[in-house]
Amino acid sequence: MSAEGPAEREALAHAAEAGIHRLAIPTPFMVGRVNAYLIEDSPLTLIDSGPNSAKALDELEQQLAALGHRIEDIELLIVSHQHMDHFGLASILARRSGAEVASLGILAPYLAAYGHETDLEDAFAETLMLRHGIPTEIMSALRAVSAGFRAWGSAVQVTRTLEDGEELRMGDRTLRVLHRPGHSPSDTVFHDEDRSILLAADHLIAHISSNPLLARPLGSAPGAEGERPQALITYMASLEQTRAMELDLVLPGHGRPITEHVALIDERFRMHARRAEKIHRLIAAEPRTAHEIAHELWGNVAVTQAYLTLSEVLGHVDLLLRDGLVEERQADGVVSFAAI
Ligand SMILES: [Zn+2]
Repeated sequence: MSAEGPAEREALAHAAEAGIHRLAIPTPFMVGRVNAYLIEDSPLTLIDSGPNSAKALDELEQQLAALGHRIEDIELLIVSHQHMDHFGLASILARRSGAEVASLGILAPYLAAYGHETDLEDAFAETLMLRHGIPTEIMSALRAVSAGFRAWGSAVQVTRTLEDGEELRMGDRTLRVLHRPGHSPSDTVFHDEDRSILLAADHLIAHISSNPLLARPLGSAPGAEGERPQALITYMASLEQTRAMELDLVLPGHGRPITEHVALIDERFRMHARRAEKIHRLIAAEPRTAHEIAHELWGNVAVTQAYLTLSEVLGHVDLLLRDGLVEERQADGVVSFAAI
């Protein structure tokens, strides 16, 4: 676990006074630990669970024990969004505790059919990658990586669906459920209005910008996904909504608590504007595919993290398309972007 500064300790103590405890669970991913949150209320609630691994389960168990609880005590398990580092253990925890499993209604079918859904997502990603200039050999390598990661997730049956805007009532508090898509299509945040605390999962993270990954739209028929989703534009609209909230404390899905959400969101907006400008200059110099732009910006990372960097570039190109600064051209099924 990273060393905690005094500000971080103070913020976590403030959350603990409100009955909300951070459990930092190990993951095999570059992002490091994932934050699950235990809410000591009625029902005893856990938001997110960590990935499907023995190590994650062991640490979760120990951190619960340090707070005087067992897995068997959990009564409600909430899934914040569709990424495996957040829900991988949910099925094991639900089986052991008999807890209700809650998620946004649109996420429930995805979680129930996790394996099949990842097949569809891979196919969706491959279509996008081919269309935007990623060579087939890079794509095959990525397919192998994706297959290797799958087991960190696990299908789970949602027993209680939540809707955007609904109030989740507990003995001592009410959490408002808010859909804030962008980082993923199912991002859900939970607002303890009385205490000015937002449980934000990956919607807002202090030390990294929450990559708006291009994800297959939830609930679409295979092969009928339609236009490519505009993840960054969606994400920025969600951030605007969060920026407008009065919050003392934001508890994110990774890293330290956030006490300055407006300044952080403004910093993100400036970063995205700068990146869009940089991409605009590259496109103005000559028409390029999204993959060529990624390569220009990040070199070999555009190969090892081809889908992530493609998502980054397309997100920013969407801002330029929206502002009428670039246009999309197609030749032989491959898209390139040119300045207007
Ligand atoms: Zn995530």
